[in-house]
Amino acid sequence: MKKKVLIIYTGGTIGMKKTDKGYAPVAGFLGEAISAIEDMKSDGAPLWDLHEMSPLLDSSDITLKEWNKIAGVIYDNYSAYDGFVVLHGTDTMAYTASALSFMLHGLDKPVVLTGSQIPLSEIRSDGRDNLITSLLIAADGVANEVCLYFSGKLIRGNRAVKMSADRLVAFDSPNYPHLADVGISIKYNYSALEKPGGKKFEMRPFRDLPIGVLKVFPGIQFSLFESIMTDKLSGIVLETFGAGNIPSDSGALIPIISRAFENGTVITVCSQCPSGTVSLGAYEASSALKAAGAVSGYDMTTEAAVAKLYYLFSLDLTVDEIKHYMEQNLRGEMTV
Ligand code: ASP
Repeated sequence: MKKKVLIIYTGGTIGMKKTDKGYAPVAGFLGEAISAIEDMKSDGAPLWDLHEMSPLLDSSDITLKEWNKIAGVIYDNYSAYDGFVVLHGTDTMAYTASALSFMLHGLDKPVVLTGSQIPLSEIRSDGRDNLITSLLIAADGVANEVCLYFSGKLIRGNRAVKMSADRLVAFDSPNYPHLADVGISIKYNYSALEKPGGKKFEMRPFRDLPIGVLKVFPGIQFSLFESIMTDKLSGIVLETFGAGNIPSDSGALIPIISRAFENGTVITVCSQCPSGTVSLGAYEASSALKAAGAVSGYDMTTEAAVAKLYYLFSLDLTVDEIKHYMEQNLRGEMTV
């Protein structure tokens, strides 16, 4: 029997139309463009349906409200389909992929995010291959996790990073092997795939919480950030140098972090380097962070760390539990 895949279109370049103000998503336009692709109806293609979200958005406008809506569509249609393809703008695709990986607890079907750098309606579009290959991967039922397919690479969703604003090979997962490399055939990297643990499938929506990201730079005046580190902030991702280092003249930072820690803010230390891991305490420059109660994000991307903070805070855990789980690998997002 033919497999069935649900394609969920959220917006993004793949289905955009040229307007007076530049490319913009237009309702109904993607459906027409897909119907014009003969291969989508060929014997080799699975059966598919299209679910168009409303409103369609440039992914810069996607918020956790849309993450909840996308996860909800997957949850509501879970038993009716063998897999899901989420068509999404590339700009924040890695955030949405990370968020869905945490929200879809006990997932044992493929959820493949993809999009394109050039709209499907344009002659040189990369959307056609991205869409058709994602459809086949979603129907295969091999990568039973949230993943992202783009230009020949299938990567784990919560390891994905957008690497280029204009190259067709726009994504990579610098800290994790590809789940599949796609050339003449789809070569799955079986040892890298998540092994679904037979858990009950549940959707765990996110609550709208105050989460922040702060990138450290040479000469940063930490005192300027004092006003955001209040008890209102649930969690913050600190993007530090190298293995988790901050300027040693950070007399101003440590008291802020200690206060935030006392207020219950979870401070997660990630690295500005696309590859490699945070190792708190390896240098004097990072020991102070550890001593002040920050947790290590190890080799997690900032995108995954943000999504994980939303996820854990939405579960109503205690701050100590959240700090504990931030340092545990929950969905293949970190190497501890
Ligand atoms: N601005 C677009 C978006 O993220 C870019 C893209 O889809 O490639 O929606």
